[in-house]
Amino acid sequence: MKRDIRLARSLLVAVVISVSAATVWQVWAMHKRTLAEIDTNNLNLAQALNTYAEGVFAQSAIVLLGVVERLETEGRGPENLRRMQLLAARQEQLLNQLNSLSILDAQGDPLMQSKAGLLTGTGSVARAYFVYHRDNPSRDIYIGPPIRSRGTGEWVVTVSRRLEDGERRFAGVAVVTLGLENFLRPFGTIDIGSSGAISLATTTGQLLVRYPYREQDVGRDFSRSANFQRHFMDTGASGTASFRSELDGTERLYAFRKSDRYPVVTTVALGKDEALRGWRRQALLTLGVVLALLVAVAAVGRRLIVNIKERVGAQDSLLATREALLKANRRLEVQATEDPLTGLANRRSFDEALTLECRRAAREQTSLSLLLFDLDHFKRYNDTYGHVAGDRCLRAVSDALKHRAKRPGDLVARYGGEELAIILPNTELEGARNVADLLIGRIHALNIPHRASPHARVTASVGAATLHGNEAQGGELKLIEAADRALYRAKQGGRNRSMT
Ligand code: GH3
Ligand code: MG
Ligand code: MG
Repeated sequence: MKRDIRLARSLLVAVVISVSAATVWQVWAMHKRTLAEIDTNNLNLAQALNTYAEGVFAQSAIVLLGVVERLETEGRGPENLRRMQLLAARQEQLLNQLNSLSILDAQGDPLMQSKAGLLTGTGSVARAYFVYHRDNPSRDIYIGPPIRSRGTGEWVVTVSRRLEDGERRFAGVAVVTLGLENFLRPFGTIDIGSSGAISLATTTGQLLVRYPYREQDVGRDFSRSANFQRHFMDTGASGTASFRSELDGTERLYAFRKSDRYPVVTTVALGKDEALRGWRRQALLTLGVVLALLVAVAAVGRRLIVNIKERVGAQDSLLATREALLKANRRLEVQATEDPLTGLANRRSFDEALTLECRRAAREQTSLSLLLFDLDHFKRYNDTYGHVAGDRCLRAVSDALKHRAKRPGDLVARYGGEELAIILPNTELEGARNVADLLIGRIHALNIPHRASPHARVTASVGAATLHGNEAQGGELKLIEAADRALYRAKQGGRNRSMT
């Protein structure tokens, strides 16, 4: 039963632990799966937007290639420049991201502008693209950091190309501007939640475009940002990462794609909290259901253990009751067969034993002897020393006789009052007599003073009788009477002796 309780308890603990572990594992796996799905979606989106950005830059590159080719082969005559201005106006209508086209000479002064006043002023010299082309012989396009257009006040990204003269010397710059607003338009149709962000940056860490658009972010420089370095620069062509944005402190899941053709990188980021909202709701639901289940299991288990405990308690008290009953039974048994004062067999067991031994003697054709003891002048003893002393004396004599009965069949009993009897199976009269004399000697040797007796100490007289074989069959009374007669003779003969 105790084992049952331990077993039930272990089972309960095992169920709770395994279900909790399985649930936590499932929630965790779901979390991982959700993150993987978000990463895949973000990567796909980054790839698509990268293709879009590459397209826009490729269009700008084609326009610039045409302009530079024409200027370098057909010269910079006013007619040529005028035709080019007309062409640029048409191209701007066709390509809506294209905001303007300008041509600057080697000093940074405008030779031609599709929109008047767009890039005017000597400040153009300081513009990053002008410095870049002046100092760099490369004929590739250059994507510059966003600048605020002097003409319209609008933020634009510049894409530019170097102009050369016949001797391959720097002769100016052809530059197109891409309006951020138009550039961002397709981004606005993409659902990136309320804390998501899409951005396009140069691989040197200049933020070109960010959606949602925030004025203060335009042209931001990430080149020294550890996150930018670690997650976008020091990695491959595309990848994912999760970190806290340096712009607004929001933790986001990022996916980036570097362009194969241009030094730009497209990044798609979703707010982590927002992206994991679905997972969180699902996880809370799962945890809630499992918790309710576990509470139910624990309650049922507890009830079960209490039941077992109650059963154990009932069984224990049953066992205790049984034990008490057995004890009481044994006590009753002893009381039924034992004389309480002397601890010898009582009269009832004496009678039963004598009947049994008589039958056995007849059956086995053996002899059966009986000794009857009677203390001498015991009434006087009581009168002299009191009944309590009399009882004590009776017990002492009984003990002396008890220790004598060595053979298994021998039975020492209190026959009645101060009369004791010993059944000696398989014993001849001679042997019985010897035992009687030995015991008389032992009682004498107890040396219990009895001043009212002529012997001055407690003594006993013994009558011995024997039956042989068939005589013994039903001869109980005969045997007792014979022993009693012998006892009488012993008394008559002066006491403290045995007679047959
Ligand atoms: P006798 O030598 O002839 O046997 O003299 P007696 O006084 O012993 O005479 P009898 O055997 O007839 O007397 C029995 C006395 O033993 C009566 C009673 O006072 C005493 N007696 C019997 N049973 C008990 C007992 O259980 N306790 C005590 N203290 N005395 C007992
Ligand atoms: Mg007597
Ligand atoms: Mg007597």
